Amino acid sequence: MKTLIEPFKIKTIEEIPITKREDREIFLKEAFNNPFFLRSEHITIDLLTDSGTTAMSSKQWAGLMDGDEAYAGSRSYYKFENIVKEITNFKHIIPTHQGRAAERILFTLLKGDNKSIPNNTHFDTTRGNIEYNGIEACDFPVEIGTIPELEAPFKGNMDVERLKNYIQKRGKENIPVCMLTITNNSGGGQPVSMQNIREVSQVCSENGIPFYLDCCRFAENAYFIKTREPGYADKSIKEICNEMFSYADGATMSAKKDGLSNTGGFLATNDDALAEQAQSLLIITEGFITYGGMTRRDLEALAQGFVEVMDENYLEYRVGQIKYLGNKLIEAGVPILMPTGGHAVYLDAKRFTPHISPEYFPAQAILCELYLVGGIRSVEIGSLMFGKRDENGNHVGPPMELVRLAIPRRVYTQAHTDYVAEACEEVYKNRTKLKKMRLLYETKFLRHFTAKLEYID
Ligand SMILES: *Cc1c(COP(=O)(O)O)cnc(C)c1O
Repeated sequence: MKTLIEPFKIKTIEEIPITKREDREIFLKEAFNNPFFLRSEHITIDLLTDSGTTAMSSKQWAGLMDGDEAYAGSRSYYKFENIVKEITNFKHIIPTHQGRAAERILFTLLKGDNKSIPNNTHFDTTRGNIEYNGIEACDFPVEIGTIPELEAPFKGNMDVERLKNYIQKRGKENIPVCMLTITNNSGGGQPVSMQNIREVSQVCSENGIPFYLDCCRFAENAYFIKTREPGYADKSIKEICNEMFSYADGATMSAKKDGLSNTGGFLATNDDALAEQAQSLLIITEGFITYGGMTRRDLEALAQGFVEVMDENYLEYRVGQIKYLGNKLIEAGVPILMPTGGHAVYLDAKRFTPHISPEYFPAQAILCELYLVGGIRSVEIGSLMFGKRDENGNHVGPPMELVRLAIPRRVYTQAHTDYVAEACEEVYKNRTKLKKMRLLYETKFLRHFTAKLEYID
């Protein structure tokens, strides 16, 4: 059989709101043209994020009932710790309520004068936590990773030569850790190859720099290695994960992604001294070392989620659903970032709306219209999220201007996907009517979450 099906059936349903365009116009205005301010009851298809929006399995729901709510030494914690160790082989697993809590603990411990942390591309909260601690955050994606229309199997890779030069220039003593994000979320959900992980790891160890993975989508990354990188077709997902993690000294994880759950995360490390300090910080700000800000039933759901996420039928469906949406858009001529990655389809605003330059937030203009057309919520990954101003107040944008259509795991059906494609096509047909936008309000860190915008006539 050629037809790819959802490898599950539906046991519980949740109604989704169907709204009218004239109402959506009011909702969007009230939200200052920032979908983060929209109420979910006004959204038909919510593609804001794949984070914590997963549908859990019947086994996970059963696990919630079975969770052991002991404050210390909970049975649910040990289940969680066991499976995470089975996947990563790291020595210390420190549970946190979500990924950024792990980031905050790690970077608080690494801060100091004149420090810098490289990555293929820092995710927004990672960059936020690094900069908040007075550390410089720099991105070294491979060049092809920043050109949306070019296809390559591993566009999430880090540029190893640039990393080497940077270490030379900056001094290895000023780089407390090097990160690699798998898959590269802000770079289009693109995977990182095993070869690249190995090479970055080698450069780090030659320089005595600890190497950490931001591993939120480790299973999706492993699936791409299995299907795209020579030599891995016959390996199991778990074997591939074991190898990926074997090159690293630690990891930060948002289990709201490949934990197939609604909350959770961890910091993992092989460094005993760092683990001890991290556990102290954990107790001060998150909770005891056997729950770290989660209910124990959450740990139970996560332990099961980590098993389910490595199922190849699931991963084939997951990556297939993204590709299905991408292919529909490509057929309709809608410019997207190619090839489709692991968790989202990204509209390429630079080609979609060439008449709006980056300083006027072209991707935001597209996603506002997408909401008006179909009640679909998405997120900007471009100048609003990452834009800065230079000394003269001129706009400095990131390499790409993207609208991310993040697909929640196991939530939407093929008909929902068709609906999204139709709405995108509609917006694309009328793209020349899209207008420039400007900021009315912004905060210093992570401004996109609470920014207010208006159209310029
Ligand atoms: C989601 C995400 C994070 C942050 O995790 P939260 O659980 O949202 O705090 C960090 N890095 C990447 C790559 C992510 O996708």
